[in-house]
Amino acid sequence: SVPAAMASGLSAGARRGLLIKGGAALEEIGAARTVAFDKTGTLTEGHPRVTDVLPVAGMTEDDLLSLAAGVEQGSSHPLAKAVMSEAAARGIATPATSNQGAIPGRAVTAVVVGRQVSVGSPRFAEESGASLGALAVEVSRLEMEGKTAVVVLADGALAGVLALRDEPRGDAAEGVAALKALGIRSIMLTGDNARTGAAIGGGLGLDVKAGLLPDDKLQEIAALRANGSVVMVGDGINDAPALAAASVGIAMGGGTDVALETADAAVLKDRVTGVAELVGLSRATMANVR
Ligand code: ADP
Ligand code: MG
Repeated sequence: SVPAAMASGLSAGARRGLLIKGGAALEEIGAARTVAFDKTGTLTEGHPRVTDVLPVAGMTEDDLLSLAAGVEQGSSHPLAKAVMSEAAARGIATPATSNQGAIPGRAVTAVVVGRQVSVGSPRFAEESGASLGALAVEVSRLEMEGKTAVVVLADGALAGVLALRDEPRGDAAEGVAALKALGIRSIMLTGDNARTGAAIGGGLGLDVKAGLLPDDKLQEIAALRANGSVVMVGDGINDAPALAAASVGIAMGGGTDVALETADAAVLKDRVTGVAELVGLSRATMANVR
């Protein structure tokens, strides 16, 4: 019977750490034309590390990290945690900070020891009217290495640049290839800049849409849905709206509770290959039903 075939599909998934919230989601996953992946924490490990510290002339690396850590201490963003641990590893005390603020997808700001400081994307720095000067070339080079460059501004002037790298998950390329073998296009959606996105996405063999603000991701998903069913895979940090906007939302791994609530399915271990397994399970189950 149909319910029996569905129930056995759902429990076969559960044994492999693939949770599906009901028969409708199980059916829809196998019909996917496109899988859209969030980058940070989904295709990558989500634990970036500071790789380069480039202060402007007259400042030391420690001065720059101290300013950045002052601002980032109020943020739960993965980039913020990376800056805090680098400062701690170098024995830099975090300065007193007030008036913390965040501009989602762009920057964090605060007053650090009397100075208005921001840490954010090169685009944010340009929009703020700051010139990167000689560091512009360094930013391009770092981004082509798949690193995220963030710019530190103090009272509107450039203080320096930090670069951070978040490694792709070990099975990310395999997970994308497995979807391709099933006839499904994979695309990475990221708020990171185009050069960093291309460097990471190129290595994984999938298309990239970069420089997306949170609302842009929703618009991309809506546009992809014009071509058929879209699965969105995210780890949940800011991803809940995108998971909800897709035909099916899949939460990955140690994702947040919000993601697990919003999603239609979950890959309980951080396995990118679990997405293709869900598609295979769906198709096998529906073959039994029909
Ligand atoms: P993603 O889509 O990769 O999760 P986000 O939308 O969270 O990216 O952030 C996009 C960009 O905004 C980052 O690459 C960075 O340049 C900037 N940004 C956001 N939050 C912070 C922060 N706390 N510290 C530094 N830069 C930040
Ligand atoms: Mg994110």
